[in-house]
Amino acid sequence: MRVCIAGFTEEEDTIKKELLKFLIPLNGAVEFIDVKDMQPKIIKVRNIMFDEISQESTILRNYNYRYHRFSIDDDIIRTDTGVLSWKEIFAKMQKIRSEYYLEDADFLVMLVDKPNEHNWFSAFDDDHPNNIFVHTGEWELFVSSDKLYPIAYEVAVAPFRSLMFEHSKNFEKFIHHEPIGCMNDFCEHKSEITFKLRTADICSPCLEEMLAQEISSQAIFHLFQILDEIRLHSLFFSTHFKRGLVSRVKIDRHGKLHFVDFGKDVEIELPPQQLSLYVFYLTMNSSVEHLELFKHKALLVRIYGSLSGGDRESVIKTVEGLATDASKVRSVISKIKRQFISVLGEKLAQGYYITELEGGGHGIAADRELFDTSAFLDNSPKLLG
Ligand SMILES: [Zn+2]
Repeated sequence: MRVCIAGFTEEEDTIKKELLKFLIPLNGAVEFIDVKDMQPKIIKVRNIMFDEISQESTILRNYNYRYHRFSIDDDIIRTDTGVLSWKEIFAKMQKIRSEYYLEDADFLVMLVDKPNEHNWFSAFDDDHPNNIFVHTGEWELFVSSDKLYPIAYEVAVAPFRSLMFEHSKNFEKFIHHEPIGCMNDFCEHKSEITFKLRTADICSPCLEEMLAQEISSQAIFHLFQILDEIRLHSLFFSTHFKRGLVSRVKIDRHGKLHFVDFGKDVEIELPPQQLSLYVFYLTMNSSVEHLELFKHKALLVRIYGSLSGGDRESVIKTVEGLATDASKVRSVISKIKRQFISVLGEKLAQGYYITELEGGGHGIAADRELFDTSAFLDNSPKLLG
């Protein structure tokens, strides 16, 4: 099954590129192609005597093909009405189909940024059900995720709907006016689409009808994979997660770390030696090799002395023991890392624990502006001074 995607204005072209970037790696029975990559057919002339003529006609065809391609762009840009009629859209699609030499079985999905007369997300042409348009404008008003995902949903689902409904006569039979979380939910209110993006499902009667219409199970399976990928990007959780990927960290006067944006109780308490090393790396804006720690002995002594409250001699001994033993440093760093992961999970913890940084050496990747150490440092005024 081949789905050729077209889009001609700047907005449409941008979203087309994003769509292809998202859909193409999700390999399967449905092939998504940029309509501009469709090569014009070349008429093969078997007789060697006609070879030259054949080449010439190919050049002419290519020329026409390019010429017409631009004329299509112009048509779209020059529509003045603001709202496109379906007739206008479908007429254009029929024209594109022949300009780009699409096969009859190929689906043509045209992205249309302008509003359409009935304000539908997508619709297929009754006379040519393989011509489908998908509206790409105004999505940000209805979904919290990136608009790429609801558009990708419509682009992926629409050819199946067209095969399933076989002209709109079956439409009323299978469309769900009351949303049930199936790809054929009508979604009269645009905000309802979020529901089916998150269920990524097809109900049994719809699935049976798809099989009855002889849509291959490989294609249906591929559709499920695409919907599942869209689902992951559309969950309330994932939207929230992306926004909250970093949190400010408030270090209280006892040295406890509070991840204020991740939640009230999200906190990490490290024993003095681990906390000292963490605070040390926090004060370093560049990475530090394990073996270079000794160079910073004075600072480490000040930090550890303040946090442990031990006498100076034992503090110096502990710091020297640590700073001259790379394997001990590694062990302390890995204990800190485990603490962060156990509280924040691997993904969120990444920027916060001490780790090997790009370009060598160790450090903390998180932006220092996220850290509020005022309470902690006020409590130990000489700590870093
Ligand atoms: Zn259904």
